[in-house]
Amino acid sequence: MTEDELQALAARIAEAILRRPWILGPVRPEPPGPPTPGQLPAWAAASQQLGDIAPVAGRKTVSGRHRPAYDALTAAVRAAAAGRGPAPLPGGSPASRAGTGGGRMVPIAVSNRHVHITQADFERLYGLGQQLTPERPITQPGQFAARERVKATGPKGSIEGIRIVGPARKATQIELSAADCRAIGLDAPVRHSGQIAGSAGITLEGPAGSFALPEGAIIAARHIHVSPADTARLSVADGDRVTVVLGPADRRATLSDVLVRSGSSHATEMHVDIDEAYAFGVRNGDSATLVGRPTRTRARSGGGGSGGSGHRPLLTERDVDPVAARGETLSDSGPYRLTPLARDRARALGIWRDST
Ligand SMILES: [Zn+2]
Repeated sequence: MTEDELQALAARIAEAILRRPWILGPVRPEPPGPPTPGQLPAWAAASQQLGDIAPVAGRKTVSGRHRPAYDALTAAVRAAAAGRGPAPLPGGSPASRAGTGGGRMVPIAVSNRHVHITQADFERLYGLGQQLTPERPITQPGQFAARERVKATGPKGSIEGIRIVGPARKATQIELSAADCRAIGLDAPVRHSGQIAGSAGITLEGPAGSFALPEGAIIAARHIHVSPADTARLSVADGDRVTVVLGPADRRATLSDVLVRSGSSHATEMHVDIDEAYAFGVRNGDSATLVGRPTRTRARSGGGGSGGSGHRPLLTERDVDPVAARGETLSDSGPYRLTPLARDRARALGIWRDST
């Protein structure tokens, strides 16, 4: 074939293409089945529309049906880009057993309803001079599931056999799930442990007596305990708020504003209650993945474990540098509380004043 013949053939082919649309447009196969909210769609390689892969808020995509949730996509991309362990993709491994040091993962512990109690209140239920009996230690250092149980009564009913978690505390507090509260007609607020001012009242009963607790019934807010050794791996400090992705593909959820509590009395673990565990399809030992950058909260009021500290804001290690930069000093007598690491940092920067 000569060069001229070749050109002629090419021209005829081009003409044919223009006249008859025999080449199919880009095909984007739909993944089978209905979409799962919050789940990334199956990739359809080069035929996928860019708008479907990286949706822009407010812009219409070719196929809205399988548009990924923007949050889930952002979380997956950020985690992958940062090399922080497996991206939270559906159908991907639901995360290794946590605590293995990989990525920003924490093990999940599902908290059943339980009671923290003062020694005095315990004696009202179990008799003068009685002590809590440890049955088994729980993950948080120094704490144990006690053998003793209590019965809690609200306006519409009772729940028996509620475990006491020891040792005795400075304030009595009962942590119930929202479903528990509904069952016994209790209107309890969602609170972090220790923040019981204005919470619901409830009647507690033991073998030796009962009493009406004026306040102390709460629905425990989900939170993450972080051991001091894990703060660097997870890029968090005490008092931070983080975004967490958890759950299997068909129940995957992204939770924002999850409080981080860290210190020597904490072991790394995310606590959710039983209602949440059902809702997100997670079980004890599953992993949750921290995504994005934490939000620092200067003022964290209350806070269990720190005990009796009123509403003074909690300063973490990261709050100390700006204070030093302003030429101010810190001490134990100020209108704030400090984490041990914050105190160390203040000493290191030479802005710590020992109170007399
Ligand atoms: Zn907890």
